[in-house]
Amino acid sequence: MKITDHIKNANGKTLFSFEIVPPQKGVGIADLYQNIDPLMEFKPPFIDVTTSREEYIFIERGNGLMERKITRMRPGTLGICSAIQHKYNVDTVPHVLCGGFTREETEYLLVDCMYLGINNIVALRGDAMKGEKYFEPTKGGNRYASDLVKQIHDLGMGEYLHGKIECKDESSFCIGVAGYPEKHIEAPSMNYDLQMLKKKVEAGADYIVTQMFFDNQKYFDFVKQAREIGIDVPIIPGIKPIATKTHLQLLPQVFKIDLPETLINAVLKCKTNTDVREVGVEWAIQQCKELLDFGVPVLHFYSMGKSDNILKIGREVF
Ligand code: FAD
Repeated sequence: MKITDHIKNANGKTLFSFEIVPPQKGVGIADLYQNIDPLMEFKPPFIDVTTSREEYIFIERGNGLMERKITRMRPGTLGICSAIQHKYNVDTVPHVLCGGFTREETEYLLVDCMYLGINNIVALRGDAMKGEKYFEPTKGGNRYASDLVKQIHDLGMGEYLHGKIECKDESSFCIGVAGYPEKHIEAPSMNYDLQMLKKKVEAGADYIVTQMFFDNQKYFDFVKQAREIGIDVPIIPGIKPIATKTHLQLLPQVFKIDLPETLINAVLKCKTNTDVREVGVEWAIQQCKELLDFGVPVLHFYSMGKSDNILKIGREVF
């Protein structure tokens, strides 16, 4: 079922969902299942599965020289989506990137989605590769997420019937896109970024999932500004419970977000990472309670491997 239909059918009740990351290359899926199992208690109507951008790795050529090779460290997004969909009977949402894929490869992936009964997709540009100053589109690939949204939307509108393409009334795909309550790092201003977000919706995006934020006011302002410029699709907040002291540096660096002083001070007072995890859980509970009062359609959690903290939050707020 489409995410937008799940939201409609919930009749104003806030849904629970989460995002998982495929295991590292060569690692089995058992650990992933162990982390998903407890979260099924909250009956998530959908689970997102991220896609990793390619990375450069260096391999020995045997003569003392190193060879640079492009690889994906966490392959298998679509396979995991399909496996989870069948094991847990939930909808899965693969993240599809512009970077690293030609439009033709993207089309093949979308056709695979259709065969697998996957009709929700989050369309993203992806980041620049390590060592690149700016994002470089792949030759023959999409440059912006809005271009990818258009490709997914248009392909979903056509149906092959005896070799002839018939146009349908509605796209087969429900498309999610990323939104940034604290602005995307490359955007020159918040207003510019919101106009680009609007372009994604005009190209066919059905809903927005936000980057993680730790200050709800940023989300409230973002929703208000988006509504003011005519963005009327659901805006799903992304929640990440802080879990280690290193997150104080890592999260702002990787996700280009700010952390509130009160949260920083509470983390700094912690003696162990177990204490930090508790602080993170408590902060997320307060965030979620306020977001529930605001009437958000879904609380979407970034699980990043371990789910014990999300379990605690879910039990407090759902
Ligand atoms: P875009 O919407 O294309 O925007 C990129 C930049 O270009 C912005 O600054 C925007 O203002 C500008 N822009 C957009 N459209 C135009 C236009 N038409 N003309 C000019 N400027 C424009 N990354 C992964 O590698 N894998 C994942 O699975 C993944 N999942 C994510 C999930 C969520 C919910 C979020 C918030 C991010 C995720 N990311 C993921 C990270 C994402 O790929 C990066 O943030 C990336 O830098 C931008 O992607 P985007 O889709 O927002 O890009």
